[in-house]
Amino acid sequence: MIRKKDELDKMRRAGKVVAEIHDVTRAAIRPGVTTMDLNNLAAEVLAKRNARSNFLNYHGFPAVICTSPNDMIVHGIPGDYELQEGDIISIDAGAIVEGYHGDAAYTAGVGEVSATAKRLMEVTERSLWAGIDKLVVGGRLHEVGRAVQEVAEKAGYSVVREYVGHAIGTEMHESPQVPNYWPGSPGPTLKAGMVYAVEPMVNVGSYETYVLDDDWSVMTEDGMLSAHFEHTIAVTENGPEVFTVA
Ligand code: MG
Repeated sequence: MIRKKDELDKMRRAGKVVAEIHDVTRAAIRPGVTTMDLNNLAAEVLAKRNARSNFLNYHGFPAVICTSPNDMIVHGIPGDYELQEGDIISIDAGAIVEGYHGDAAYTAGVGEVSATAKRLMEVTERSLWAGIDKLVVGGRLHEVGRAVQEVAEKAGYSVVREYVGHAIGTEMHESPQVPNYWPGSPGPTLKAGMVYAVEPMVNVGSYETYVLDDDWSVMTEDGMLSAHFEHTIAVTENGPEVFTVA
């Protein structure tokens, strides 16, 4: 879908709200803080900015952010889990401003983390930016996944297959999907005004996943660490414009 200027303006504003949620939650991450504490901070930002949550009640999801520690990949439900020294925690957040959506995620360490955890986070974030660089007019959408996969696999890691990025606009998840790997075809040709959420999930071990009994929490099958970084980005005549930054 091609978005008009006024639509892009609203998405830009939604993106700023998501970036603020990232800043506020990141600043609060330390041992002893619960994932519900982080959710409550995110809810305060949404209220202060007159934004609505696109996560709350999405297929019944009970919170405004997803909080996924360690071997949990995505979709963790905030609760009484207390962050521990050495954990990594993935925070996925979204906002709706005047009907338009923003969506972004990051992974952060709690206190001092292992060298493996640090490297995983660095590689995953770098893979996101390698993908973002492919969002140029005339490019092909699946070059994004090819670039993400190359960075992750060169580092010896694997890219999750079952969960992918997506177009975004008046809905959080719009078509087409944005795989984080090369799916075997170049995909749609990119035009100015298209907006995508690119969101690599990178695992230290294999890319296999399973879902906990809560029907939400997605885990690595082998119990090894996973990281998740995401931005909402517009394709423009001047190159990719990332909306979910402060
Ligand atoms: Mg997303």
